[in-house]
Amino acid sequence: MRARACIKCREYVIIHPNNPLNQETIKLFEGKHRTHTLITLDLEEVRGQYTNFQKKESSEEEESD
Ligand SMILES: [Zn+2]
Repeated sequence: MRARACIKCREYVIIHPNNPLNQETIKLFEGKHRTHTLITLDLEEVRGQYTNFQKKESSEEEESD
């Protein structure tokens, strides 16, 4: 599985090519990070390093400032 990630914010969104709702989420993600550096990479590579963009709005936030 592939993911779209912002290396500046350390956020990512999973790419589901056949899911129209996911396309919207990716658009949202790319809009938010428009001026940042976005990369496409394997989901395995984002695990533990990036925060899930979709999960953020629901509940858990593991980051400690
Ligand atoms: Zn960003």
